[in-house]
Parts: sequence; structure tokens; C-alpha cells
Amino acid sequence: MTKDELWRAVLAQVQLSISSANFATWFKNTEIIEVDTNRATVVTSNNFSKEWLENKYHKLILKILHNLNPEIKEINYEVTKTKTKRELVASPLSSVQKTDQLEFQEFNIDRESSLNPRYLFENFVVGSFNELAHAAAQAVSKNPGLTYNPLFIYGGVGLGKTHLLQAIGNEILKNSPSKKVKYLTAQKFASEMISSIRNQSIENLKSVYRKTDVLIIDDVQFLAGKEKTQEEFFHTFNSLYENNKQIVLSSDRPPNAIHTLEERLCSRFEGGMIADISLPDFETRMAILKIKTQERKANLNPQVLEYIANNIKRNIRELEGALNQIIVYQKVNNASPGPEKVKELLKNIVSGPSQKATPKKIIQRVAEFYDLKEAEMINSSRKKEIVKPRQIAMYLLRKELSSSYPFIGRKFGGRDHTTAIYACEKVAKEIERDEKLKEEIEIIRQVVYRG
Ligand code: ADP
Ligand code: MG
Repeated sequence: MTKDELWRAVLAQVQLSISSANFATWFKNTEIIEVDTNRATVVTSNNFSKEWLENKYHKLILKILHNLNPEIKEINYEVTKTKTKRELVASPLSSVQKTDQLEFQEFNIDRESSLNPRYLFENFVVGSFNELAHAAAQAVSKNPGLTYNPLFIYGGVGLGKTHLLQAIGNEILKNSPSKKVKYLTAQKFASEMISSIRNQSIENLKSVYRKTDVLIIDDVQFLAGKEKTQEEFFHTFNSLYENNKQIVLSSDRPPNAIHTLEERLCSRFEGGMIADISLPDFETRMAILKIKTQERKANLNPQVLEYIANNIKRNIRELEGALNQIIVYQKVNNASPGPEKVKELLKNIVSGPSQKATPKKIIQRVAEFYDLKEAEMINSSRKKEIVKPRQIAMYLLRKELSSSYPFIGRKFGGRDHTTAIYACEKVAKEIERDEKLKEEIEIIRQVVYRG
């Protein structure tokens, strides 16, 4: 494996562990320029990134590098005086370097639209779990503003919401390059709003939004609790909607399960098309692995693919992460890993759920989901808004960790075991008839296992 391949493998894994904004900011224009027995030298294009890598990401980078190449025990960070290869590639003189340059498409984000060219309909696998969302997304790309408006797509982490949203944007731009498409996350929307209010440039910002033809906002659950942002968003939404401009939204849950989302926004979101993405079945997981293997021009033993598909069921991003690890291993060792090795390589990703969930994590995640403090879950309040989440947390402790009822009672401020039994039975019964509750609990489960 060359230095470039090694660094590419590191980037692929770093990308799984940090936000895409941080990834693009700190890892752009980095590369390994030397590996000399047990020390690798990583270069960055400026001092600032060097410091960040050293102070914030060193442990992560070293762990990954060491896993890939056990000889590496140290990393030396340097700022390069000359341009890094990747910067050179951006210049027109670079056709020669281009062939051996490690192109990392995460960095090729379009400035104006913020779209990543790697997310397309062509490489999006469709199965019954995402069929409706996919069909709606295609309809919207064909006739933006005219079919479903807004289009609201929801589903758990790593199941393809961002991919699908961006595919819509990319497709529209491909068909009508003059259209103004803008993609951003709800967090970005909120922070732009706040800083423009501070700089008194809110009118500017508003007019930018109102000039877009297609506004795509990812992860709108993050608007929860942000009243001022919601208000501004409401006006932007209306102005676009009235002018038949397309709005596309995503969230980890349906609009009515976003707590503290203003009623009027919720009903706007519900006014168009709502489509969910659920979990891919085995065949689809295999299809996704095959496509990604081809994209990486790798050749993997079918049994390895089956092992991955059998063991990673809830998150397509993790499916890809597992695949990357195997591909890298094969490259480094020039041989495909045996079943024991595969298990070992994937233990961080595959590790059975019950090893990762803890009572504390479950209580925290439930509290976060319902906008409560952890202490409120434990204390003796009998308010309805607290009793329900508390019961759900008890139910999850029982269900996910097989905790005993007396243990559950103790975890929740020394309650009696009969209280725990009552809570678990009540939630189990309600799930039977309340689809929305069932969905909420599934979302919480997923975030618990995410870490
Ligand atoms: P989400 O936004 O729902 O958390 P992403 O859209 O970021 O998930 O998807 C995670 C990863 O899985 C991405 O690399 C994406 O390309 C891939 N992926 C998700 N769904 C599909 C699919 N149906 N076909 C191919 N790749 C997919
Ligand atoms: Mg996403």
C-alpha cells in the first residue's frame, strides 16, 4: 500500500468519527509525506490545522494508523512550505499529478450549493425500506416546486437521508444548471441566522434565501427549542412556498414527534409529502455492499460481504465503514482476511448492541430526546411530560439490557420494583397500538447504540 493509499484509508475512517464540517475543515489538504519505520509524518497546509490535528485529533489518527500499520507508533505533524498535492490538483497545470492523487470526494463540495457531487440517484440503492422516499425524491427532481412541496424525509441515523436530499439537488442542477439550489443543515441555518442578527445583516440573508429555487434543509430536528430561528424559518418557508419554490427537509423523526417545534411550522411540514426510510433488509444490505465494493474497485470474498450484511443491520454508514476496513486490510496484506480476522477487524463496529448500551446512556438519550434533564428522569416528579419518558427509559433498560426490575427501580431514585414492572408493561402495551410511540422508541434505541 502506498503512502497515499494509507492516508486515504485513514481519512475514510476519520470521516466516520467526526462531523463532516470538521472533517472538511481540518483534513482538507493533509497528506502523509513519509513513513519511516515507526513514525509517520503528516503535513498540513497551515499552522492552524497543524495545531488542531495535534491537539484534537492526534489520538484518533494514531489509533487508526496504528491499526492499519502496527509499526507506526508516532506521528510527526508539519506544515508544508510548498503546496500539498491536493492543492496542486486544483490548478490547471496538474493533469500529471491528477492520476496519482488521492481524490477524496468529501472535499469536492460545490461552493454555491454546498452539494457533494458524490451523492447521486445513480449510486443510491432502492429497496422496500426506502422506496417511497426515493420515488418522492425523484418526482421532486423532475418537477421541482410542482409535485410535493415540501418533501419531508425522515429516518434513523446513517440510513441515507442526506444522500437522498443531496441527490435531489444534484439532479436538479444537472437538468437545469441555472437554478439556484441551496443545501444546508438546520444547525447551519440557525447559526447563520444568529450571526446575521448580530451583524444586523438579517435582511441580506433573508433575500439570499428567498432567491433560491430549491432550498434543502437537513436534520430539521435541530430546530427544536430554537424559537427565533423557527420564526425566521417560518417566514422563509412561506415566501418560497408561495412562489412555488421547492423545499426539501429531513429529520430523524416525523414532524409531530419533534418536540418544541412550533405548531405552525409542524403543520407546514405536514402539508406536503412525508416519506420515511426504515431499515434495509438483508438483500439490500448485500446490494449496497456490492455497489460500494465496485466503486472502490475492490474484490471481496462473498462470505466476507455476507458476514458484514448479517452483522450490521441498522446503519448504512457503518456498513460502509466495515467494508472500508476490510478493503484496507486486504490491500495492506495482499490477502483476504479469514473469518476470525474479519471478526476482529470489525469488532468495534459490530460489537453486539448489549455491550454498548448502558443504563446511563439509555437514561441520557431518553432525556435528550424529550428535552429533559437527566435528574428530572430520576427524581420523583409526577408530571405527565416526565412520567412518560421515565417509563420509556425503564422499558428500554429492561428490553435492551435485560436489567432486573429491582435494579431498574434503584436506578430511578430508589423506586420499588413493582413501579418498574408497571412501567415496562405499560409501555409494551402502548407500543402495540401507538405507532408514533413505537417509532420514537426505535429512534431512541438507535441513538443509544450510536455511542
Ligand atoms: P443519514 O443522513 O440518514 O444519516 P447518509 O445519507 O449520510 O445518512 O448515509 C450514510 C452513508 O450511507 C452515506 O455514505 C451514503 O452514501 C450511504 N447510503 C445510505 N443509503 C444508501 C443507499 N440506499 N444506497 C447506497 N448508499 C447509501
Ligand atoms: Mg444526514
